[in-house]
Amino acid sequence: MRDEEAAVELWYPALKRSFEYVVASTSFLPVIAYYLHKIEEWGFVFQRCKVCGKDFLARSRHNELCSDKCRKKQAVEAKREFDERAKGDRLEQLYEAAYYYWYNRLRKLRREKAANPEKTAAMGEAFKAFRKEAVKRKWQVKRGEMKLTDFSSWLIAEQNEVDRLMDA
Ligand SMILES: [Zn+2]
Repeated sequence: MRDEEAAVELWYPALKRSFEYVVASTSFLPVIAYYLHKIEEWGFVFQRCKVCGKDFLARSRHNELCSDKCRKKQAVEAKREFDERAKGDRLEQLYEAAYYYWYNRLRKLRREKAANPEKTAAMGEAFKAFRKEAVKRKWQVKRGEMKLTDFSSWLIAEQNEVDRLMDA
C-alpha cells in the first residue's frame, strides 16, 4: 500500500464527542487496520457469545455473553437446569424413603420368619412388584409423563398397602 492509500481521515462532531467518523478513499483496508489497532488500544477482545454464537467485542475474556438478552437467556436456562436437578433429587428421595419403608418391614418379618413364612413370602413378592412398578413410574416422572406429586401420592398408597399386608 502506498502512503496516500493507507491514510484514513478522522473527524469528531462537536456535539457528539463520543462519535468518531472515519473516511477512506480507495480501500477499506486502512479502516480495518486502524480499528484493529484501536480495539487493541481500548483493551477490547474478540469473543464468540456462548448463547447465540455471535462474534462481539468484549471488555475482557471473562465476558462470554454478547448482550443483556443473552445474559437473561442463560440465567433462565441455569434456573431451569437447577429446578430439573432439584426435581430429580426429590424424586430419588421419595423413592428411597418408600423403598426403605418396605425393606424395613420385610426385614422385620424375615427375622420372625419361623412365625409366618407364608406372610413373609407374600410380602417379598409384593415388594418385588412394588420395586418394578416404582422404577417404571420414576422414569415416567423423569420423562415428564407423570407429575411428581402423583408419584408421591402413589408411593403413599403403596405404603398403606404394606401396612395392610403387615397387619393381615
Ligand atoms: Zn449472544
